[in-house]
Amino acid sequence: MQKKIAIIGAGMAGLTLAQRLHPHAAVVVFEKARGVGGRMATRHADPFAFDHGTQFFTARHHDFAAFLAPHISSGLVAEWKGKVITLDPLKKISDRLWFEPHYVACPGMASLCKKMAEGIQVQLNCEVAPLIQAGPGWSLVDNSGRGLGDFDLVVSTAPPVQTCRLFESYLPTAHRLYQVRMQACFAMMFGWQKKWEMPWMAARINNSALDWLAINSTKPGRNAAVTSIVVHSSNTWATAHVDDDLGEVERALRAELRSVLQEDFDAPDYFSLHRWRYALLDKAHDDNTVDLPFYEHHLKLASVGDWGSRSRIEDVWLEANFLADEILA
Ligand SMILES: Cc1cc2nc3c(=O)[nH]c(=O)nc-3n(C[C@H](O)[C@H](O)[C@H](O)COP(=O)(O)OP(=O)(O)OC[C@H]3O[C@@H](n4cnc5c(N)ncnc54)[C@H](O)[C@@H]3O)c2cc1C
Repeated sequence: MQKKIAIIGAGMAGLTLAQRLHPHAAVVVFEKARGVGGRMATRHADPFAFDHGTQFFTARHHDFAAFLAPHISSGLVAEWKGKVITLDPLKKISDRLWFEPHYVACPGMASLCKKMAEGIQVQLNCEVAPLIQAGPGWSLVDNSGRGLGDFDLVVSTAPPVQTCRLFESYLPTAHRLYQVRMQACFAMMFGWQKKWEMPWMAARINNSALDWLAINSTKPGRNAAVTSIVVHSSNTWATAHVDDDLGEVERALRAELRSVLQEDFDAPDYFSLHRWRYALLDKAHDDNTVDLPFYEHHLKLASVGDWGSRSRIEDVWLEANFLADEILA
């Protein structure tokens, strides 16, 4: 009989794994959000659209480049080209071009994950509750207690804290997954009903509570008749303020933007603030030298995501393929 595999999370890790395992097993992907993509997310607020999580991805590894090639040919993935400036309250503005291709999915970052989900059984709006062992396998239920079926193997791609919660009763408290630390990030989204006229399309921000600013509407396949801008806080600032009142966070970050950019961003036609509680792997945390993904054969549990190496789409894709090889071996 075919093995039944449950994958928790429909981001890049979960869908890469599902694509690899789907020809060999009965795979079901469970996703708590109403769409696929995870942190490869796009917020639509017509006529504006914002990639408020992943900004772009590189293709340094030949396997990932080979995976992308047909999507580049079809126009689903395209290179985002232009000038990037560096803003620094302590120095004068400098600019440069990127020295390697930076890709985006079109028309929004989640579009690549949508394509990857074709032909895969994905249950959206379905938050899996902490696992319950059922004989040699696992019985999954959602947060309202609804049964989701019995599975021979469960793979979580949820961020580490959430994966630990899902696996809680079955993972020893000293398990390495408990040691992984993620950093937060706040994303501000601004929209204006007019075209972007400046000669640059993104900015790195140094010595500030802000880290990055992207003119989202300059990415290929976006509505260039309007201006959609995404501004990210620094991860250090966000982690220190992650539980602050969102009104306070907005006030602080918008004041910071005014001082960095010396532009008045005070009257946008659209504004929104998003909190990413588990945005990126905390590289500064010494204990983050864990060797994930993990696959506990005896427990029939596995987990994969960006916490195993680096918070980069390309690395997540490689990690998920590595785990798929282990499971299929
Ligand atoms: C602000 C920000 C900027 C970034 N910028 C870049 C960048 O420019 N370039 C780059 O390469 N990378 C970037 N990254 C990192 C990149 O987005 C991540 O490394 C990658 O998307 C992680 O993919 P994943 O599948 O491991 O996790 P996720 O995308 O987080 O997917 C996990 C999924 O699990 C779901 N889930 C969690 N718990 C449950 C549950 N109980 N039941 C069901 N579903 C559940 C979640 O809803 C989510 O969809 C950025 C990330 C953020 C947040």
